[in-house]
Amino acid sequence: MYSTMQDVQLNVSRILQHGMTIHGKSTITTWTGEPEPQRRTFAEAGTRAHQLAHALRDELGVTGDQRVATLMWNNAEHVEAYFAIPSMGAVLHTLNLRLPPEQLVWIVNHAADRVVLVNGSLLPLLAPLLPHLPTVEHVVVTGPGDRSVLDGAAPRVHDYEELIAGRPTAYDWPELDERTAAAMCYTSGTTGDPKGVVYSHRSIYLHSMQVNMSESMGLTAKDTSLVVVPQFHVNAWGLPHATFMTGINMLMPDRFLQPAPLAEMIERERPTHAAAVPTIWQGLLAEVTANPRDLSSMTQVTIGGAACPPSLMEAYDRLGVRLCHAWGMTETSPLGTMAHPPHGLTAEEEWPYRVTQGRFPAGVEARLVGPGGEHLPWDGESAGELEVRGTWIAGSYFGGIDAEEIRPADKFSEDGWLKTGDVGVISPDGYLTLTDRAKDVIKSGGEWISSVELENALMAHPAVAEAAVVAVPDEKWGERPLATVVLKEGETADYETLRAFLADEGGIAKWQLPERWAIVPAVPKTSVGKFDKKVIRRQYAEGELDVTQL
Ligand code: ADP
Repeated sequence: MYSTMQDVQLNVSRILQHGMTIHGKSTITTWTGEPEPQRRTFAEAGTRAHQLAHALRDELGVTGDQRVATLMWNNAEHVEAYFAIPSMGAVLHTLNLRLPPEQLVWIVNHAADRVVLVNGSLLPLLAPLLPHLPTVEHVVVTGPGDRSVLDGAAPRVHDYEELIAGRPTAYDWPELDERTAAAMCYTSGTTGDPKGVVYSHRSIYLHSMQVNMSESMGLTAKDTSLVVVPQFHVNAWGLPHATFMTGINMLMPDRFLQPAPLAEMIERERPTHAAAVPTIWQGLLAEVTANPRDLSSMTQVTIGGAACPPSLMEAYDRLGVRLCHAWGMTETSPLGTMAHPPHGLTAEEEWPYRVTQGRFPAGVEARLVGPGGEHLPWDGESAGELEVRGTWIAGSYFGGIDAEEIRPADKFSEDGWLKTGDVGVISPDGYLTLTDRAKDVIKSGGEWISSVELENALMAHPAVAEAAVVAVPDEKWGERPLATVVLKEGETADYETLRAFLADEGGIAKWQLPERWAIVPAVPKTSVGKFDKKVIRRQYAEGELDVTQL
């Protein structure tokens, strides 16, 4: 028996129509570096999205599921692109502007992007790539920037504002199959070629609904979200879509991602929520410690993408800002878990829940798998690789135009689950604690040492700004931890003291304590601001680090 319910397709165009009508007065504020930011309502941005779709089809000839790429910061125009491109049936391809040029070229060619929308400030990055991008026929430039760097470029160059000006303000969105491609994002390719994840209209729609649930980000039209996480990093964690569903105002930092302007925009615009990786919050903390600012408007911050050190959470608690830990991946859209403690607990009782990666929301199923492929219990002790399944979780990678999708055995199980590569435990009430990425675990004499546990314990030391721990080869034990430490400005600490601190305050077992140490000026970061451990391992192997062995 079938249901008697209507079969309305879950399309991105429906999210757009809802946001621009029901929440038409909600705003997108984009930081410009000028005395006044740019302000645009959802109604205005939505109307411009209709015009952009007309321009792309009527002027640039975009049809079917052709790919339209964006090389953009977080701003109102990027939100317009987020809605216009999928709604018309084309595929939005967000390009990570921090990738090395050769990876960007590879990705654009692999996706066969036909059009690139680019912020003027990023033209110096795009211009030298264009001769290597044969599929790109049009470049559309938005915002300030020296357009002359495109002189002589093969693709046709358009100005965004001129292109959309005067176009019809109502596009007749096609009734798309909700399973078709809406957007794509490539993983950053830490090993091998980057892998393309293709989101469907349906996955975006369902993910956005979950982002808005109270056990997830749970924001409303009364909120303003400072969207620091880039729109090229897993759909800015779903926020642009989620905001149009519930009318959450957006504060977009554009290219002003340094701690000082972020602190200024928080104090002036008073967002109630923000989302970013731990590195951003570390930087902002150092900034407001040196130059105090009022951050008190932010009652909730979503922090994820890398493990949040508990010491960072405590520091923000003292500022009245509550960090909520979340876990996800490009392959999971990204919402995989969020660490809201159960209700009715005291602050002290909440703490052990807050420092986990969090609980799985409805829509994400999880299991832990041991080294022999056995399924492990959720007992808070059995550690294994996390596998997940759900409607907004990738089941394969994009193989390229006219190629089959790719389903590598190390990423997808035979029965269709995503192998996350993350190792951890799950408590009986469903809270996930990750101890490491499988490839970062330190295998010492047959036992595992968690690099994340050592890092968190080290970052709790008052003199330590950042700490990254990696496995290095050891003759006797196979691998041992190397601790690299960034000291806070003006602070000193000797290795013996740090080691003793790990044992006494951090509760780290003696055999897990690192004997190799190096003070470094900064921890190398990936394109999305996570610790880049493969760079540290290489620096060590090539003798670039000044290592002391205790
Ligand atoms: P990349 O692999 O390039 O970093 P992703 O952004 O998809 O790309 O990263 C996903 C990975 O980031 C996860 O598999 C996990 O290892 C890590 N990660 C994300 N959130 C957290 C978190 N809260 N705690 C620990 N690790 C996290």
